[in-house]
Amino acid sequence: MSRNVAIRIFIVLALLLTFATAAAASEGPHWSYDGDTGPAFWGVLAEDYALCGTGQSQSPVDIPSSAPSNPADLGMAYQPSAVNIFNNGHTIQVNYDPGSNLTVDGSEYQLLQYHFHAASEHTVDGSQRPMEIHFVHQNAQGKLAVVGTFLVDGAANAAYTPIFDNLPASESEPEAVPGAQVNAIDLMPGQKTYWRYSGSLTTPPCSEGVTWLVMNNPVEVSSEQIGAYTAIYDHNFRPTQAMNSREFIVGQAPTTLPTTGGVLGDSSAVVWLIPLATLVLVVILISLTVRKRTA
Ligand SMILES: [Zn+2]
Repeated sequence: MSRNVAIRIFIVLALLLTFATAAAASEGPHWSYDGDTGPAFWGVLAEDYALCGTGQSQSPVDIPSSAPSNPADLGMAYQPSAVNIFNNGHTIQVNYDPGSNLTVDGSEYQLLQYHFHAASEHTVDGSQRPMEIHFVHQNAQGKLAVVGTFLVDGAANAAYTPIFDNLPASESEPEAVPGAQVNAIDLMPGQKTYWRYSGSLTTPPCSEGVTWLVMNNPVEVSSEQIGAYTAIYDHNFRPTQAMNSREFIVGQAPTTLPTTGGVLGDSSAVVWLIPLATLVLVVILISLTVRKRTA
């Protein structure tokens, strides 16, 4: 083997290793809903997942049916979206086309995606529902607002047909269901009163500061539709977490929030880091230019 060929092979191997490491790092350590990588161990699987074990404002929670609920005041301005469906190894997710918003406390949150859990993550008076759908929204500051809706056994639901008829059984990349358009509003209950509290992501890294809006009324789907999902994921739910000092909120969130967590990990860090890094770079460039001129 000539020296050139050996060097080329070395470079290719080094590049492959770099990409593989980067890919592994971006996905984070492996977690699951079973055994020693299951919910009870998430907090110790990685430093980044510590809040899953130590957080005081975690989700999901048990909701007493007597908890005060909010009037149907969520400003929902949703457009129909393609059904960009995929199996991410933990749930079935549908990425939503840009341009659909929810307004909470005067702040606009864009609908990014919805995904499913079976059985439900939130419970009411201690009892689980067959499924729960989470509509994940994010505002310009990186803060999340999630609308949770329980799915119960009943009449077949045509709005859900393009989704439940196209569930990818194994891990896949997002792919639009040909010809299908679904409006998120049609996947929610008609009567939109809701419970509200401050919680977290229900999957690692369990970041806190998430506004939870859980619909009081469930949506009916057929047992066949539920069965199509549970044939793929039949226990992708995190058990309920302690409320601690939190209360169910009616109206706007109190202005003095508890100081535990509240920061949305990576996304909000990036929001601050980019302008900061740009500022530092500009200052360095200016000082270099000034030095050259004065030299
Ligand atoms: Zn979820």
